[in-house]
Amino acid sequence: MPEGHTIHRAARLQSAALAGAPVTASSPQGRFADGASLLDGRVLQGIEAVGKHLIYRFEDEVALHVHLGLFGRFDTHRNRVPDPRGSVRLRLAGHAATVDLRGPTTCEIIDLPDEERLMARLGPDPLRADADPERAWQRISRSRRAIGALLMDQSVLAGVGNVYRAEALHVEGLHPEREGRSLSRDEFDRLWTTIRGMLRDGERAGRIITVSAADAGVPRSRIPRGQRTYVYRQRQCRSCGAPVRAWEMAGRRAWACEQCQL
Ligand SMILES: [Zn+2]
Repeated sequence: MPEGHTIHRAARLQSAALAGAPVTASSPQGRFADGASLLDGRVLQGIEAVGKHLIYRFEDEVALHVHLGLFGRFDTHRNRVPDPRGSVRLRLAGHAATVDLRGPTTCEIIDLPDEERLMARLGPDPLRADADPERAWQRISRSRRAIGALLMDQSVLAGVGNVYRAEALHVEGLHPEREGRSLSRDEFDRLWTTIRGMLRDGERAGRIITVSAADAGVPRSRIPRGQRTYVYRQRQCRSCGAPVRAWEMAGRRAWACEQCQL
């Protein structure tokens, strides 16, 4: 599933290509025909990312909500625009690109109360300037649930997925099974800062590289595929060489080095 950095990057790149002018909207697959006809010809004012959700704001206070889920994806066409093939739920054609949306979990028109309900059930998103880490701390510091499960709960923190969970906990030396309430304020603050830094790097680069240049011994852009994470999908910890433990946690596979993470 795409993590928050992918969604924020999509919002930024699609805004540059589509916003500020009317867009042509269609649903080649047909499943979003009514929604597309409501959007068609309207000016797209901007696109906002919150955690793994996207809100497209059109004129006349019309808004589109998209969540890619496990299988959704965007295809952006900048030059030659192919005829839509397969299950294109929504095609948005703007001044600088055409964007196809396939296989999303959610693609719906929402009104202001819907949007308020969505925002209310999402925790702070570390990639947003208005994120309030205090809200996440209030939940984590009172919880007996494991920090590895809490980080994946979008009502606690919005945007973190499986790779960043594994990597941020590793960098901070925190075992995923530590109870939330066992974290000190200092540990939480450092974890928040690390997650935000990793998400920002991912948003800029368009891919996940959590290993530092110092640890890799080469510039980060030259770290080979398969060596870009410390514990995620690794057999051996890239910090200390100990075997990495992998197990099911909160429905997804967790990875940790039990030498480095206590
Ligand atoms: Zn280790």
